[in-house]
This record gives sequence, structure tokens and C-alpha cells, in this order.
Amino acid sequence: MRLKQLPSEFQEALPVLEKIKQAGFEAYFVGGSVRDALLGRPIHDVDIATSSYPQETKEIFDRTVDIGIEHGTVLVLENGGEYEVTTFRTEDAYVDYRRPSSVSFVRSLEEDLKRRDFTVNAFALAEDARVIDLFNGLSDLDNHLLRAVGKAQERFSEDALRVMRGLRFAASLNFSIEEQTFAAMERYAPLLEKISIERIFIEFDKLLTAPHWKKGLQALIDSQAYEYLPDLAGKGPALEQFLAVYEDNFVFATSEQAWAALCLVLEISDAVTFLKKWKTATHFQKTVADLVAIYRYRQKSTHSKRTLYDYGKELVLLAESLRQAQGLIVDFPLVEQLDEALTIHDKHEILIKGGDLIKELGLKPGPDLGQILRNIEEAIVQGRLPNERRAILDFVKSGL
Ligand code: ATP
Ligand code: MG
Repeated sequence: MRLKQLPSEFQEALPVLEKIKQAGFEAYFVGGSVRDALLGRPIHDVDIATSSYPQETKEIFDRTVDIGIEHGTVLVLENGGEYEVTTFRTEDAYVDYRRPSSVSFVRSLEEDLKRRDFTVNAFALAEDARVIDLFNGLSDLDNHLLRAVGKAQERFSEDALRVMRGLRFAASLNFSIEEQTFAAMERYAPLLEKISIERIFIEFDKLLTAPHWKKGLQALIDSQAYEYLPDLAGKGPALEQFLAVYEDNFVFATSEQAWAALCLVLEISDAVTFLKKWKTATHFQKTVADLVAIYRYRQKSTHSKRTLYDYGKELVLLAESLRQAQGLIVDFPLVEQLDEALTIHDKHEILIKGGDLIKELGLKPGPDLGQILRNIEEAIVQGRLPNERRAILDFVKSGL
């Protein structure tokens, strides 16, 4: 089949394909962008596969960056765009189920497409808009089916990350997982224990933030793959609960919000410790822990100026929308009002510093001064004290 028209993202990259071909090699668009173009979805990162070896690719273009030469990938800078150009390759024996022990560069497109994970990810698109479909991916696309390329059992035993990728594509594409593919995912899910947590996190995070996350999560539960993920072993019932409590078409606005919802449903007492096991970034851990704290505070009482001041409006709204998505009582206008009522949003905005109190009132540095500064901050946050030098000095004097 042939696309009626090449989407503009591919048109812009055409000169790259043409230059490679002029040099006597083959080149195609491959991977997720071709799948997304066929589905009429927005396209991101146009990837190119070629029969030219990395050194040969580098000779064709004036501007290239080595971003993964050992995997055959050269970044080509052309026409103001950046394109990953990867040599056709096969992956040799997988030792300990992780990464292939070595990749071999080959001149055959078919070999390259054969090593890809799912039929809908294994198309090649030629410069004349012809779609090369060696594994009936087009019919799987029509049927909204996710099917492993080749023998499913082999593909998941080679690389168990594909189990997580399968679950996340079910969630992002709203596809069902073909029966034998699913059976192989179930069977090889235990090998997830061998895969780096960072790579699993990326896939699980994409699953949770996808529009059809419930479909992905249901497949995660059904496959029992969660048994091999950090702190999720034995948590089937909690994950079922996760599906049950959120409204059907609710989509998480951010990763942090999704992971906070996960922590809440798992009744995790310390989100930071949990997220450390997932090897996430510190700032991510902090934001998720804040969201969990806001949510739990709100279960006991209504929001206050102090919550707005401590956590900021953005996080309070994200926590509130987790309530909304479960059909709980919410009060978004109150959050806006409390935020507008704050005269400061950060203690650095206070117009008197510790040094001023030492100079003007003869106070000594130390814990007492620290307490006075916290009292000033609290009085300003609560609206009992204006953020003005004179007023603050009087406030301190009256308490001495
Ligand atoms: P997205 O739209 O989320 O980027 P994608 O399909 O482009 O999805 P990538 O992770 O960017 O996914 O990988 C690009 C392509 O590389 C895939 O479409 C697939 O053909 C191949 N691929 C990636 N990871 C694997 C894997 N673990 N096993 C086999 N093929 C893979
Ligand atoms: Mg991609």
C-alpha cells in the first residue's frame, strides 16, 4: 500500500533519504512515526534506517553527531532538523535476557524489521510513500491488535522489556494484545526481574500517563507482570482497586500525578522510599510525595492558606483533580481564592530578614531568632500581618 501523501514531518526529512540513496544505499522511515502516520496520530521523532554503515553515513552528511555509534545510530543535522539515522542491524544471542550481546550491521531491510518488537512497529516507509509491511502489520492496525513479530515466545524470552512495551502500547494505542503474544508475555514476565528498573520505569510511566491507561493496567494485572515490579508483588487487589476507583475516561495530567495515585491506592506510607526502588529522580520523588501528602491532608480537612503556601497552587489543583476523578467532593474555587489571598508565596518575599532584626532590634542569632522568623512567616501567610517592614518590626517588638 501507499500513503496518499507523506505527512509534512516526513517531507521535511526527505532530503536526508535522498542523499543516502544518491550515495548508493537504501534508506527508509521506520518505527513509531510510521505507525503513528498510518493511524493518523501526531508524529514525533522521525527515525531513519539505512543500509549504509555508520562511517558511510557520516561521510554523506556535513553535520553529524555520534550519539550511539556502537548501536549504529548517527544523528544527522539537515535542513534545520535532527534525524536519527540507524544502520540496518540484527541482534545476536541475548545473554541473560537483557540486551543483545552484540549488534551486527547488515545490508538487508528485512533483517532489520525482523528484530523489531511488534508488527505495528515494524513498517518501513519509502520516499515514494510506499509502506513496506512484511508481517501483516497493516491488518493488525486495522484490527487494533498488538502482535509480536515472528515467534512470540522467542521475542519475549530474548528481551523481557518487550513485555512492558506491549502493555504500554496497549495503553497508548488502545489496542488489544493478540492471544499468543499475550500468552508469551505472561510466560516471560518473570524475566522482568533481569531488566534494568530505569527502562521498566520509562515504559510503566508511559503506560500510566497514556489515554487508555486502564487497558494497559488491566493487561498488567491479567498477565501478572506486576509480580516482578518493585513493591508491586502481591498487589493485584490494590491494582484492581486502582481501576475501580477512577472514572473511566480520566487521564492523568502529569507523571507525578499518576504515580501519586498509584502510591495512594497501594497505601504506600513513604512515597520517596517506594520511588527510590524505581530509581527515579529526586525532584520527581519529592513532587509525588508532596501530592500524596496534600491528598491525605485533604481527606481529613479542607484546604487552607498554609497548604497553598507550602505546596503551591499547581500541586494542590492536581491533588484536587485526583479527588474529582473518583467522584469525591471538590472545591476548585476555594483553592483559587486561598491562593489569591496569599500575600507571599515564598519566605524570600518577606520584607524583613533575620539580619534586619539583629540590626534594628538587637536580637541575637540563634534558635529564638529562627522561631521569631517562623512566627512572622506564619502570621503573614495567615493574613494577620501585612508584609511591610514597619508592621513586621512592631509585631516582633510586641512579642518580646
Ligand atoms: P514512541 O512513539 O513512544 O516513541 P516507538 O514505537 O517509536 O514509540 P521507541 O522506543 O521510540 O518506540 O522505539 C523505536 C522503534 O524501535 C520501535 O517502533 C521498534 O520498532 C523498535 N524497538 C524499540 N525497542 C525495542 C525492543 N525492546 N525490541 C524490539 N524492537 C524495539
Ligand atoms: Mg519513538
